[in-house]
Amino acid sequence: MENIEKNNKEIKDFSYVKKNYYELVDEKTKQEMFNFAQKYMTFINENKTEREITDSFYKMAKQNGFKDYDFGDKLTIGDKRIFINRNKGVVAFRIGKGDIEEIGMRIIVAHIDSPRIDIKQVPLYESDGLCFLKTHYYGGIKKYQWTAMPLALHGVVIVKNGDKIEINIGEKDDDPVFYINDLLPHLGKSQMEQKANVFISGEQLNVVVGGMTVKEGENGNKIKNNILNILNAKYGMTEEDFLSAELSAVPALKARDVGFDRALIGGYGHDDRSCAYPAMIAMLEQENDINTNICILVDKEEIGSEGTTGIKSKVFEDIIEDICQILGKNAKKVRKNSICISADVTSGYDSNFPDVFEKNNSAILSCGVCMNKFSGAGGKSDSNDASAELVGKIRQIFAENNVVWQTAELGKVDIGGGGTVAKFIAELNIDTIDIGVPVISMHAPYELISKADLYSAFEAFRAFFK
Ligand SMILES: [Zn+2]
Repeated sequence: MENIEKNNKEIKDFSYVKKNYYELVDEKTKQEMFNFAQKYMTFINENKTEREITDSFYKMAKQNGFKDYDFGDKLTIGDKRIFINRNKGVVAFRIGKGDIEEIGMRIIVAHIDSPRIDIKQVPLYESDGLCFLKTHYYGGIKKYQWTAMPLALHGVVIVKNGDKIEINIGEKDDDPVFYINDLLPHLGKSQMEQKANVFISGEQLNVVVGGMTVKEGENGNKIKNNILNILNAKYGMTEEDFLSAELSAVPALKARDVGFDRALIGGYGHDDRSCAYPAMIAMLEQENDINTNICILVDKEEIGSEGTTGIKSKVFEDIIEDICQILGKNAKKVRKNSICISADVTSGYDSNFPDVFEKNNSAILSCGVCMNKFSGAGGKSDSNDASAELVGKIRQIFAENNVVWQTAELGKVDIGGGGTVAKFIAELNIDTIDIGVPVISMHAPYELISKADLYSAFEAFRAFFK
């Protein structure tokens, strides 16, 4: 741990020499970490898709005094407002006393979509004793990891008359679940000799949804017809209604404590709910009334931030401009002076795979939330390389608030790379930096994080909004 002197006040800078956060805290703080983790786990068990997270955050914000916002609404200092973007994203903000032309806004952006298996538009078919849904995976996954495990179906169906049916099946203990087949090892010799990216192909990720024939029904499609009857009885939907549906298969697994010491959390979609959740809570609990703070939760990060619900959509710039205009401020000046945390997970150092990491610049689990000055691949291509000035500013905020944090790159220079929403926010002339929770087995159906890092992310975002 390095100590630096600033304004004659001793402030701690934890990041240079990594220290296990658990080692730095007393029993009371450790209990706070565990309590926060418990609430997070309940939240991610109940909210697995961007739509569900949007609904829940909206309700939480309303309970915390946030009022609905639409373009052009009047705003005054102290207002807490929330805007819902097409049921798949949220912008929550609070207007502070400070002059936003001078001090800018404080923005945190996290994404609420996670890798998963989406259902195709013409999905249902029967073959040799089983009925399946055809799928098209969403986000960068290792396809073989999604076989032979319980899956739940989440999403919406817009039926012929325009009604919206919400579907969530496979999460309750007595719900049925769904399943993607894999080959038995006894017959898997040639499969096992193939490369991992092809031994389960995209077209083999078919989800089993039934296996019962009934006496009635046209020849050869008895299982399918029975499934359609069940769907019609339960949801009032027909086969054609799959055309206007967004259904996703996600792991039907609950987040659990991992380890004898319960230091870690296993769960689906820590990427990026382990950043979105603390960002949301920091937004709801903010106390200081000087800064104008904005929390933006976006969809589509995992597939390139496209569409009206991804960060590339103009809606986010429009809201910032709208706020400026209503308050009589110059939006260009405000954006120039604003700073943003792109709150997204990073790779945790994994000693099972040391070859892909450079240890001095890796995120060690439980050593705190991680700052990635840049990401990208190769020669930093496609990266938002945050300035030394911004890193300095964030470092100071963290030091003043005793945030335990670390700094890292995703992995070794020539190995691979990744991207976040940071570069798209930077395009708006807003200084942006990636800060988030280190994850092991990222994009697997069940990912691993540390409770200490989750809590540290909350402390970091709270300090940023202070
Ligand atoms: Zn991701």
